[in-house]
Amino acid sequence: MKLANYVYGQWVEGSGEGAALFDPVSGEQLVSVSSDGIDLARAFSFARDSAGPALRVLGYEARAGLLGAIADVLAAKRSDYYEISLKNSGAGEGDAAFDVDGAIFTLKTYARAGRALGPARLLREGKAVPLAKTDAFQGQHFLAPLTGVAVFINAFNFPAWGLWEKAAPALLAGVPVVVKPATPTAWLTQRMVEDVVAAGILPPGAISIVCGSARDLLDHVQACDLVSFTGSAETAARIRNHPKVVANAVRVNVEADSLNSAILGPDAVPGSGEFDLAVKEIVREMTIKAGQKCTAIRRVLAPAAIAPALAEAVAAKLAGMKVGNPRSEGVRVGPLVSKAQQAAAEEGLALLRKDARVVFGGGEGFAPVDADPAASAFVQPTLLYCDKGLAAQYVHDVEVFGPVATVLPYADTPEAIALARRGGGSLVASAYSADAAFLGDLVPAIADLHGRVMVVDSAIGSQHTGHGNVMPTCLHGGPGRAGGGEELGGLRALAAYHRRYVVQGGPALLEALARDAADAALLGG
Ligand code: NAP
Repeated sequence: MKLANYVYGQWVEGSGEGAALFDPVSGEQLVSVSSDGIDLARAFSFARDSAGPALRVLGYEARAGLLGAIADVLAAKRSDYYEISLKNSGAGEGDAAFDVDGAIFTLKTYARAGRALGPARLLREGKAVPLAKTDAFQGQHFLAPLTGVAVFINAFNFPAWGLWEKAAPALLAGVPVVVKPATPTAWLTQRMVEDVVAAGILPPGAISIVCGSARDLLDHVQACDLVSFTGSAETAARIRNHPKVVANAVRVNVEADSLNSAILGPDAVPGSGEFDLAVKEIVREMTIKAGQKCTAIRRVLAPAAIAPALAEAVAAKLAGMKVGNPRSEGVRVGPLVSKAQQAAAEEGLALLRKDARVVFGGGEGFAPVDADPAASAFVQPTLLYCDKGLAAQYVHDVEVFGPVATVLPYADTPEAIALARRGGGSLVASAYSADAAFLGDLVPAIADLHGRVMVVDSAIGSQHTGHGNVMPTCLHGGPGRAGGGEELGGLRALAAYHRRYVVQGGPALLEALARDAADAALLGG
């Protein structure tokens, strides 16, 4: 079966054989995708000219209602999505929930939050500012929805959440969406779009999907469009430097890879609540979605006196986890999504091993449960230990996109800070400590290189939302290596889909223009 693309309000099959999608457990071919022959210029103009005005006329509150309706459709079809996740991503229930339920939760959050903006169609920012000696001439800032399209080029690891975490704020803002999912897992994204289109919730063209190669997608972007990319730094650089993106100064948001750290404080000694919380979280992060999360813990920084015990405790937990076919009883860790990802992870692991020794895993003698090692894409969960600190050559630079983490002992707080910063910009760091002095030094010293810092102590215990779990109400994104992008953060995300401008004129005009606008201060609330 070849999956169709949805463009200019029609389902259109791409020409040729297309690219095959596989089951990463059995190696069986599932479906194929092709974007060949699709008129992308027409897809963009249909979305811009037809869906854009139809969405914007509705106002924020009504569009929030659309998001709620989308969430309901997806929730009703949840079991279909779990089945596709299992087949195409090798995701067991827990892994599929992370993606599918995460998507539905995010949509519901925006549906709820968006209502606060009421029926307005634009946002007024701040009060009018005086520009003359009398009040005859003033300036008023506004935020108006972009009149173009939001183009999403997504990564393979979140086919569901990756679409809806971007589409929720875009559609709430009134901006039509064109999504190009990553080819290896495009099936789930395509099915969700198919279900939403079939439900007739959105104006035609408000959501389009192009499966397969991006082809000339970016040749059609214009000044009022936005490109939001999630994936590798190399592809991000290509997108940022695309001639049309550069010539039209198209807004680009990038979420790229990241060497996120977990940092134990000096008080997180074995036997403490903080130590136990760290161990649990490290194991969770290594094994959920087989470590295929951009936010996963890659580096574990621990005081030198604690690091060996920590590594031992994590290794002991990993040893108890079954890795293999998620259809098998008791299996906790699934495969990577493809043989290509398996090969990339093994290559990365070989580099990390030049810096570090294996505490657990490493792949030698490893056999997945109920799966053929030759056909499947498993990587054994592997914990490494590196005592080279800042001198390590690969541990701070190579992101192994799989169930792999490295413990790095540190001597003092300045060294912990330097190691965390050596990641060059990360999506998230988590700290396990109740030591106020340590946290008072650490958090501000790493914050400018991290989009999110999660601090956990035993008083918070199991109430925390997780190192790698992205909450729709909190910012997602990170500086530097992590791409420099910003997503989510509640209604803050709407800013990316609006353009700020100021109107200078007389007070009557400014008041008239601002009359039906919602207060932009609500975005930060
Ligand atoms: P990738 O190879 O860069 O691919 C990402 C997307 O870009 C795919 O849809 C891909 O399409 C498309 N693409 C490739 N070349 C393109 C081009 N020349 N023009 C336009 N689009 C192009 O990355 P990946 O391997 O799929 O994703 C894994 C990476 O994503 C990891 O490093 C991970 O850390 C990062 N990630 C980050 C976040 C975050 O939120 N920060 C979330 C998830 C993943 P095809 O699949 O058709 O090639």
